[in-house]
Amino acid sequence: MRIVLLGAPGSGKGTQAKLLVEKYKIPQMSTGDLLRAEVAAGTDLGKKARAAMDAGQLVTDDVVLGMIQARLARPDAKNGFILDGFPRNIPQAQALDAMLARLGQPLQLALLVDVGADVLMKRLTGRRNCGSCGAIYNIHFSAPKTSNKCDKCGSSLTHRSDDNEHTVSNRLKVYQEQTAPLANYYKAQGKLRTVRGVGTVSIIFKTMTEIIESQIRPLADVMGKIESAAQRAAALAKAEEAKIKAAAKAEKIAKAAIAKAKTAPTTKVKLAVKKAVIKKAAPVSKAKVKAKLKTKKTAKPAKKAKGKSKTKARAKKVK
Ligand code: AMP
Repeated sequence: MRIVLLGAPGSGKGTQAKLLVEKYKIPQMSTGDLLRAEVAAGTDLGKKARAAMDAGQLVTDDVVLGMIQARLARPDAKNGFILDGFPRNIPQAQALDAMLARLGQPLQLALLVDVGADVLMKRLTGRRNCGSCGAIYNIHFSAPKTSNKCDKCGSSLTHRSDDNEHTVSNRLKVYQEQTAPLANYYKAQGKLRTVRGVGTVSIIFKTMTEIIESQIRPLADVMGKIESAAQRAAALAKAEEAKIKAAAKAEKIAKAAIAKAKTAPTTKVKLAVKKAVIKKAAPVSKAKVKAKLKTKKTAKPAKKAKGKSKTKARAKKVK
């Protein structure tokens, strides 16, 4: 299944994305996480992105699109994905549609997690993360048992640098201006579904999975059947092609054999002729040559004698 999670920063879509990953065994692709990893690694891309992130502004489209394209090309994206925090504006959504169209894997669902602005502010400024196991807490709504320590693994919790009040209000403004219009973009495609993002995490998750099951599962099943039928047809076509190739090869071999057979007697004849010529030439031995010469020698005087007798005859006539 191929899903985009929409929602303002702090709507809880990141938390829901992790639960969806566990349930459906497909990867979560969060541009925010990818960018934070680049920043932490101190890469050029990270350095480029950091200023915009700290100011609560969007990182440029070319940077984010390059990252997403590379992520979608990884083998684990074949079975589907959950996009979280991407796309963030209309050009990114259009670029995503184009990328997925090229891959022949269009988006199936855009799920909007809807939360009011006042709640968002508390959620974001109160958010604390565990850098070791990824658990998320909130000092207002779901505080850890021990202050600043992860309940699950005991590691220290961190406060994201862009979760301060100034940056948060910027991020919410940017969301309203640039990201919120995506709801209409996907509505026009008939792919938008909305879930209220307030209440317990498990109830929101249940609502989300119900939407996914009703919207995508039947479609995914049909698509799966179509896909396996297409794979079978492709395998048959391949086998047929192999047969045709083998037949063509056999025909070529047969033609070559026929041609060889046709030329073979001529060669034999030629060989026989050659042999015969050699045989014919062989008796012309020294003895034969001598004999021939002898015959010629003996034949000459006979000619002379003939010539002499003719002259004698003429002389007799004259007398
Ligand atoms: P997030 O964790 O999704 O709230 O993202 C944190 C920050 O990363 C945002 O405030 C942006 O500066 C940047 N960012 C994340 N995703 C995108 C995106 N798709 N386009 C541009 N900037 C992004």
